[in-house]
Amino acid sequence: MTIDTQKKAITLKNYVNGEWRTSTSVEIYDVINPATQEVIGHASYSTKEETEEAIQAAKEAFESGVWSQKTTHERSAILLAIAAKIDERAEELATLETLNNGKIKTEATYDIADAANCFRYYAGMILQPDGQTYHAPDNVQALIVKEPVGVAGLIVPWNFPLLMSVWKIAPALAAGNTIVFKPSEVTPMTAMKLFEILEEAGLPKGVANMVMGHGAIVGQTISESKHVDIVSFTGSTQVGREIMRAAAGNLKKISLELGGKSPNIIFADADFEAAVDYGLFGIFYGSGQVCSAGSRILVEETIYDAYVERFVERANQIKVGPGLDETSNMGAIVSEKQLNRILDYIEIGKNEGAKLVAGGKRLTENGLDQGFFIAPTVFADVTNDMRIVREEIFGPVVTIQKFATEQEAIRLANDSDYGLAGGVFSNDGAKALRVIKQIRAGITWVNDYHPTYVEAPWGGYKQSGIGRSLGTYGLEDFQEVKQINIRLNVEPNGWFPS
Ligand code: NAD
Repeated sequence: MTIDTQKKAITLKNYVNGEWRTSTSVEIYDVINPATQEVIGHASYSTKEETEEAIQAAKEAFESGVWSQKTTHERSAILLAIAAKIDERAEELATLETLNNGKIKTEATYDIADAANCFRYYAGMILQPDGQTYHAPDNVQALIVKEPVGVAGLIVPWNFPLLMSVWKIAPALAAGNTIVFKPSEVTPMTAMKLFEILEEAGLPKGVANMVMGHGAIVGQTISESKHVDIVSFTGSTQVGREIMRAAAGNLKKISLELGGKSPNIIFADADFEAAVDYGLFGIFYGSGQVCSAGSRILVEETIYDAYVERFVERANQIKVGPGLDETSNMGAIVSEKQLNRILDYIEIGKNEGAKLVAGGKRLTENGLDQGFFIAPTVFADVTNDMRIVREEIFGPVVTIQKFATEQEAIRLANDSDYGLAGGVFSNDGAKALRVIKQIRAGITWVNDYHPTYVEAPWGGYKQSGIGRSLGTYGLEDFQEVKQINIRLNVEPNGWFPS
């Protein structure tokens, strides 16, 4: 890492085989702070050859056993050292995450703490006994053991730059794999810091490799490489499909954490203020750039008008501004591209006949003109055939629609190509459980929205993905399972004539 003394922007490098390497690519681009458009870094679109070198380094490191053959105590100790260093540098990491992603610093601070916790969790998990054993017929003692998959290709998006990286890197390393990691080209800053930490914590060279660049080059090379044994991807459903196709070449394992359009169902018997509060939190946390965002609120018709009125009143009070300003409640949109995508969807909603009841515009007043800010936006009176109800917008835009019966709420909630998350608000415990069990989604809440825990599996149904991150499932994604059959009476079996 070097500092550009003119601009104080950081020059980002690749990390391959234990060395910081300047990309040979002539394609250099600016990494910006979306709250101000100031340049905070210079990164390169690395080449296919550079990606292949990183894959080769990971392959050689895996085959050498330098990591996979370490005892679990040794691996665990390094993971704990990484966690401690993340904690030590939490302030620096949270500030950098805020500068690069645009989220408010309070959110970034939670992300960094969760990242350290994730390393600690897997450091503990690998010290537990695992596998199975049984006495098979024919006097065979059978063991079922778990082993690393090999070289893991890890590709992540820009919305939780450090945390999404750690959700993959921690279990992949814990299981004994070597890795080739690609951050989002939009948000590579904290990833680079994380790799400094991995190096300082004593990870052997070649075990963790990072290549910055385009999805279509670096990501595609990782996905189709015959030397990569698993690709674990978080991002859009569209790119998830491309990765699945590319991975078919060598039938590598895949794990896909994709998009969502998640329902949040509010019954008339819910605690009204809590349901409004979590409705807001569900969509406007992270400026709505959260895969599990509750972007479709379904409200029972008897309280619909009152709910929309109160929701809009509260949404209009949200202070949008730079993430480092402590008075901001909601930060910037990550990039100009994403800003324009969201503004396009707002136009689509208006043209489809949805009723815009709050926001609906870019914010440029009060010093926000240099950044990418959008007002919390609410569309009421929508129907399930509208694009703003069906497609993932990934911004601070929510639709609120009406339902009459429990069955209708479930039908509307499940009428989606996605199945990532969902919530139900009701004070009738049996009803809440009955309904949430029928929601076709992997991450759900009752009288709550958003909290998730490293112990719990994270992932979606339908087009929201394949596989689960975190918990024991997250580790298993990066493991192969082997049966070992050991004959206890060693003698010829006499199958063929002697
Ligand atoms: P994206 O799919 O555009 O990009 C994600 C990553 O994939 C980036 O690093 C990108 O460079 C890379 N990529 C792009 N094209 C590629 C290709 N052809 N081959 C390999 N890699 C390629 O997503 P994004 O815009 O960065 O992030 C937003 C999306 O991520 C949303 O859809 C959101 O729902 C999803 N997301 C899902 C989860 C989850 O846990 N399910 C979490 C966070 C974000």
